[in-house]
Amino acid sequence: MFTNADRPVATVDEVLITHQLSDRPRREPDYAAECRALAELAAVMAESPDSLFQKLAETALELCRAGSAGISLREQNDSDVFRWVAVAGAYKCYRGNTLPRYFSPCGAVLDRNTCLLMADPIRSFPYIEALTSPVREVLLVPFYQDSQPVGTVWVVAHDTQTHFDAEDSRIITSLTKFAGAAVHALTRAAAAEQANLAERRREEHFRALATATTDVVYRMSADWSEVQPLDGRGLIAGNDQPLRDWLDRNIPANEHATVRAAVQVAIATKTMFELEHQVIRADGTLGWTFSRAIPLLDDKGQIVEWFGAASDITRRKIAEENLHDIRARMENALAVGAIGTWSWDVQLDRFYGDASLARLFCVLPADVAGGPLARLMKSIHPEDRERVARDVQHAVHHCSVFESDYRLTQADGSWRWVTARGNVEADDTGRAARFPGVVIDITERKRVEAELLRVTEEAERRKRLYEAILASTPDFVYVFSLDYRVLYANEALAIMWGCPDNSSVGKTFTEIGYPTWHADMHCREIDRVRATKKPIQGEVPFHGTYGRRIYEYIFVPVMGADGEVEAVAGTTRDVTGRKDMEDELREADRKKDEFIALLAHELRNPLAPIRNGLQVMRLAENDPAALAAARNMMDRQLGHMVRLIDDLLDVSRISRNKMQLRRDNILLSDVIANTVEAVKPLVDAANHSLRVELPPQPILLDADLTRLAQVFGNLLTNSVKYTPAGGAISLVAQRDGSDLVVTVRDNGIGIPPDFLPHIFDMFSQVDRSVERASGGLGIGLALVKGLVEMHGGTVCATSDCNPDSSSRGSEFTVRLPIVQPARTAGEKPVASVERVKRKLLVVDDNQDGATSLAMMLRILGNEVRIAHDGLAAIEVAAEFRPEIILMDVGMPRLNGLDAARRIKSEPWGESMSIIALTGWGQEDDRQRSADAGCVGHLVKPVDMSQLEQTLSALRKN
Ligand code: ADP
Repeated sequence: MFTNADRPVATVDEVLITHQLSDRPRREPDYAAECRALAELAAVMAESPDSLFQKLAETALELCRAGSAGISLREQNDSDVFRWVAVAGAYKCYRGNTLPRYFSPCGAVLDRNTCLLMADPIRSFPYIEALTSPVREVLLVPFYQDSQPVGTVWVVAHDTQTHFDAEDSRIITSLTKFAGAAVHALTRAAAAEQANLAERRREEHFRALATATTDVVYRMSADWSEVQPLDGRGLIAGNDQPLRDWLDRNIPANEHATVRAAVQVAIATKTMFELEHQVIRADGTLGWTFSRAIPLLDDKGQIVEWFGAASDITRRKIAEENLHDIRARMENALAVGAIGTWSWDVQLDRFYGDASLARLFCVLPADVAGGPLARLMKSIHPEDRERVARDVQHAVHHCSVFESDYRLTQADGSWRWVTARGNVEADDTGRAARFPGVVIDITERKRVEAELLRVTEEAERRKRLYEAILASTPDFVYVFSLDYRVLYANEALAIMWGCPDNSSVGKTFTEIGYPTWHADMHCREIDRVRATKKPIQGEVPFHGTYGRRIYEYIFVPVMGADGEVEAVAGTTRDVTGRKDMEDELREADRKKDEFIALLAHELRNPLAPIRNGLQVMRLAENDPAALAAARNMMDRQLGHMVRLIDDLLDVSRISRNKMQLRRDNILLSDVIANTVEAVKPLVDAANHSLRVELPPQPILLDADLTRLAQVFGNLLTNSVKYTPAGGAISLVAQRDGSDLVVTVRDNGIGIPPDFLPHIFDMFSQVDRSVERASGGLGIGLALVKGLVEMHGGTVCATSDCNPDSSSRGSEFTVRLPIVQPARTAGEKPVASVERVKRKLLVVDDNQDGATSLAMMLRILGNEVRIAHDGLAAIEVAAEFRPEIILMDVGMPRLNGLDAARRIKSEPWGESMSIIALTGWGQEDDRQRSADAGCVGHLVKPVDMSQLEQTLSALRKN
C-alpha cells in the first residue's frame, strides 16, 4: 500500500497541464502499429478475456512510450478505492494495489469525467510519493462501462524528457474505448451465460421433480394452449413434443367444459389452478386425477408459464363411489324396511326393535318397544322356530356371534325369508347382557337362488338327456372345428374310431386314422358349410370293419354370436339297411309290373280259342262231332282262365290273411284221388308216366280237402309243364313219425341252384320264355307254400339241373301233421244231381251273361225269365212268381242285394229262394248276400255242376 499521506502542496488545478496537449507539437500517428495493437487486443479478448486489461496496459505503455501504464477501477465496498487491475512498465510491481479515491489522480478524472494531463502530480497527491519511480507527467482518460466512468486508463512518464502530446491522448482514448466496448461485450456474454445457466438449472430441477414424484408433472404455456413434453406415468399418455390437443387427448369430452372454466379462472386471477376431474388413462380406460398448477410470473407480473402436478386418484374415487353405492343401497334397504335392527336386553328380557323390524316381523311397534323376545318368536315359521331358539340360546350362552336364516309369517299368510346377524355382549361378570343385531329380508335372494337352482337343474337334466340321446343313438354325432379337428364325438363314434374316453378331441382326421380321401372329403365339406352357412347333406360308401356300408351324413353350421360359423356339427347314419330295402322294393315293383304284363297276356290266351270255338259252332251247326270238340275246347280254355283268376284271388287272400280253410278230418287218399283225377288229362296229354304211392294204412288229416288237392295239383301240374314229353312223374306219400311226407318228383328241366331260394316267392319264374310256353303266372308255388303253412306244414324244393346228371329233375317235399285216427272216415256220398223242372228268374245287367245262363237252365228243363236290373227284377218277380231267382249283385238302377231285400219283403216274395251271383267270392261278400236274404252265393262264371248242386240242395230243404 502507498503509505505517504502528507498534506498536498498544490491543488489539482495547479498540477493540471491538459491544455498543453494541444500546444505541444503533435507527433505523426503510427496507424500500422495501432492496428496491430488493436488486433492483438481483439485476439486476447477472444482467447483469454481475463488478460484483456493487462494487454491494454502493455499496449498503452508501448504506443505512448510511457514509463508505466495501467488501469485503475473504482471499487466501492467498505472503502472507496481505485484498484490497479493491470499495470505495465516500472510500476508493474504494484499490480493489484489500491489507492484511496480522494488521494488518487484517478479520482480527479472521474470527478471531471474527461481526459487529464498532470505534471508532477505528487504536489497535489502526496500519497503517490511512495512509488519507486517519480511521476513526472501522467495522462489519464476515464474508462466507461455502460456509459458510466468506472475507472481510468493512464500512462506515466518518469523522466523529464518525456512529454505526452495530443497523439498520445488520441491513442489512449481510442484504446480505452475499445477496451470499454470489449468489456461491455464480455460482460453481456457472461450475463447471458449466467442466465442460460439459471434456465438450465430450473429445467434440471423440473426434471428432477418430475422424476422424483409419482404424479404427472406438467408445464403449460401461459394461456394453457400448449403442454410441454411430459411423462404420463401410466396415468395418461405422455408426449415427447409440445402438444396443443392435450385436452382432447387426455380428458374425456364430458369434462372439457369444467376443466376449461377452471383454467380460465386461474389465468384471470393468476392464482393456483386446482381441480379434480376425469382423465383418459394411458390404457384407454377412464380414471380420476387431482391436478394443481401455479403460474410463474415475470418482473411485470405477467404469466410466463404454469407448473403443475396431477395425481392419480382413481382408486380413491372408485372406493368413494363404491362406498356411496353401498350407502345408497343400505339407505334404500333401510327405507323400504328390508333391514331391521334390534337390541335385546338379555337379563331383563326387553326387546327393542326399529319400525322396519316390526314391519318384517308383522308385529305392532309396541311389541318391539321393550317387550319380551317371545312375542317376536311367534312370527317365525313353525318349522324354523325351534332352530332359531336354539341358535339364540347358544349365542347367549357363549356370548358369541348369532347367525340364522329363517322364515317369517306375513299378514297375508305368505312367508318371507330373512337372515339375522347379531352379537351377544357380556357384562363385567361375563354374563350375557346386550344382544344387538340386524335382520335382513332375503326373500328375493332366496327366490333368485331357487330359480338359479331350478335353471341349473333344468340345464343339468337337459344335458343328461342330450347325453343319453347322444349315447343311445347308433348314429355318429360330432362337432368339428374350422381347422379340421375333433371338438366332440359321441360314444358310438368314439368306439368306431377306437378312441374312447374323449381321446379323439383335438385330433385331425388323419390322426384319427381316416384314409386321405375321406379326411379330404371332411375338410371340403367343413369349408363348404363355413362358406355357405347352410347345412349340407351327402352320402358316402365306406369299407370298414362291418364290410361295405353306406353312410348318410348331414353337416350343420354352429353359429357364433357374431353371426359367423364357429364350428361344424353333424350326424352320420348307417343307411345300408334302408338302401337294401329300397333295392328290394324296386325289385318287387319291377316283378309286379312284369306280372301285370304277363297276366294280361295269360288272360287273353284262352280267349282266342274260345272265340274260334264259337266260330266253329256257328259254321258246323250240323256237325255234332265238331260241335262237341269245340265245346270241349272252349270248356277247357274257360276252365284255364277261371283257374288263373282263382289262383290270383287265393294268393291275394293268403297274403292279406283272408283265406279261410274249411277244415275237416279228411283222408289222404281222398285228397290224392281228387288231385290225380284233375291232372290225369294233362299227364296223359304230355305222354308222361305218373306213379302214385300211398302208405297202406289210411292217413287222417285235419285239412281243407279242396285246398290240399290244389297244393298237390299245382305241384303235379308244374312237373307236367317243366318236364319234356314222356317224362316220369311220381307222387310218394310216407309217414314220418307224426308227420306225413309227400314227395312230388319229376325228371324234367330242374331248377337252377341260384333260383331255388326264391322258388316259392310270388311272381318268380326261372325263365319267362319257357313258362310263357307252358302258361303260368309264377304264383302257383307261392300258393302251395301259403296253403301248406296254413295247414301247419312245410314245403321245400331240391333240384339237380345239371344236363349231364342222370338224376335231373326237381323234387318238392310237403310235410304235414297227421291227425291220430279217432274215427275212420267213410266215403262221403257224392250228391247225385236230380233234374226237376222249375220256374227261374235270371237277373243280370250283362245281357250275354243273362242270356247264356238262361239258355243253360232251359236246356236243363226249367222255365226261365230274364231281367236286366234290380227294379225290372222286382216287376218280373211280382208277375212271374219264380221259385228261384239268380240275382247278379252289381247292377244299375237298383243293385241285386237291395232288389233281393225288397222282393223278400213282399208277401209274394217271401217264399222265393234268391241266389246271389257275383265276381266276389270272399267270406264277407257271402255274408252280405246272406244278410240281404239270399240263400246261396255263386261266384261267376257259374259252373254248371255247381249250379245244379245248389239247386238240388234248395229242393231238399
Ligand atoms: P308258374 O305259373 O310259372 O309255373 P309257379 O309258382 O308254379 O309258377 O312256379 C314258379 C317257377 O318255378 C316256374 O316258372 C318254374 O320256373 C319253376 N318250377 C316250378 N316247378 C318246377 C319243376 N317241377 N321243374 C322245374 N321248374 C319248376
